[in-house]
Amino acid sequence: MGKASSSATTKISSFVLMIIFITLALSLTALVLAIEAYYTPGQELTAGYLLLIGFLGAALSTYVLFQTRKRMLRLRIEAPSITTTIECRKCGFKNIREFQRGDYIFKETEPCQKCNENMLITAIYREVKERKRELFPF
Ligand SMILES: [Zn+2]
Repeated sequence: MGKASSSATTKISSFVLMIIFITLALSLTALVLAIEAYYTPGQELTAGYLLLIGFLGAALSTYVLFQTRKRMLRLRIEAPSITTTIECRKCGFKNIREFQRGDYIFKETEPCQKCNENMLITAIYREVKERKRELFPF
């Protein structure tokens, strides 16, 4: 499930990136055309419109680019959060720490901080943080 969903995220973001770059290219073209129109007599109004379109397009694509980048960075940070719960069978002391390579359930680990008895891994799970649903920018 994890692999499929992450590759879907990559596909969506590369699609968004493509749209952003097309928009950016079109806005730059509009700006160039605006400069051309500005120097053509009687085309001042067209120049103004093209300038407006160019600036709006550039601003919009830059904004969406930053939003997408921010979201992608957040996804990358949130991904590896697997937690291991360690319990002492003697006194019931519970310790929660980050998953380490080689952890498995019912493995004996470090001695208990309270009674020095070897502790047991009782649970390994991925922490699911509730994420606010974000509207797709398009
Ligand atoms: Zn103990």
